[in-house]
Amino acid sequence: MIAVLKAGTNSEQRESLIKWFESMGLSTYVSVGEYHTIIGLIGDTSKVDVGLLESLSIIESVKRITEPYKKANRKFHEEATVVDVGGVKIGGGNFQIIAGPCSVETRDQILGIAESVRASGASILRGGAFKPRTSPYDFQGLHAEGIELLLEAKKHTGLPIISEIMNLNHLELFMDVDIVQIGARNMQNFDLLKAVGRTNKPVLLKRGLANTLKELLMSAEYIMAEGNENVILCERGIRTFENHTRNTLDLSAVPALHELTHLPVVVDPSHATGISRFVESMAAAAAAAGADGLMIEVHNDPPRALSDGAQSVTPEQFGVIAAKVRKVREAMGL
Ligand code: PEP
Ligand code: MN
Repeated sequence: MIAVLKAGTNSEQRESLIKWFESMGLSTYVSVGEYHTIIGLIGDTSKVDVGLLESLSIIESVKRITEPYKKANRKFHEEATVVDVGGVKIGGGNFQIIAGPCSVETRDQILGIAESVRASGASILRGGAFKPRTSPYDFQGLHAEGIELLLEAKKHTGLPIISEIMNLNHLELFMDVDIVQIGARNMQNFDLLKAVGRTNKPVLLKRGLANTLKELLMSAEYIMAEGNENVILCERGIRTFENHTRNTLDLSAVPALHELTHLPVVVDPSHATGISRFVESMAAAAAAAGADGLMIEVHNDPPRALSDGAQSVTPEQFGVIAAKVRKVREAMGL
């Protein structure tokens, strides 16, 4: 349920209303917007006398929220959330490109890629140190050393960094990582979601291979329910009957999520297609669809990459993609 307050309600009136809600065992979520202040109510709202609430002089309207996700719901928070990643803002009209290799492999590799993607317009550096691989015999990542190398690349370029966490016992290792990524395979690892929810670190939550938008939002809710509201959603393609591409990029997720939630939405055309020559067109399409950012895998030598080489573009190709994306956003008036 949400209670929309009338303009001009003072903080004393607001606080006494919140106390009243809390006395009924409800928790509250206050969103102060440009035009409205909304108090979202979480818990068993059947005890709330809607007629009585509506009759209060400070109440403009009362609405029941039927969706099971509350804090992530656009109805709880009308304005788009802007997630601040060490000064780099994402969401609410702020568009960012995250780029870098699937896996951190060597010092030269990550430093070289970081430098070149920064020069062509990436604002956040990615690199996997813990890799969720289908085969246990494939490269699993450099683990702690991979994080160290990413931090070194951050120091050299000034780019904030993002890396995937697979195990909640590794949180300590991610202390200086700017965005913690929850991969598609862990979208419903609820203990992991709760653990990152207890930090105040930005979290990029990838959509699971076979998960609906509602399930994605429920996973975001797990993080937010613990107090961390810095959640960025990522559409990275889903499993369908089509197997020509690695996954099927569900681009309609972008406008749909923007309607359903206030959280920023990023698109990953690399994992969505699995084919490097398709990344440019899908990146442009995602930008045109209004995504708040892109995540693109870039490798200096894709045929020799230790993971996801087939979908990785070279730094030169990345430069062309980034320039095209800028033009698309301009043409769309974004
Ligand atoms: C990745 O970003 O390298 C990754 C493993 O992504 P996903 O979880 O989307 O498969
Ligand atoms: Mn990858």
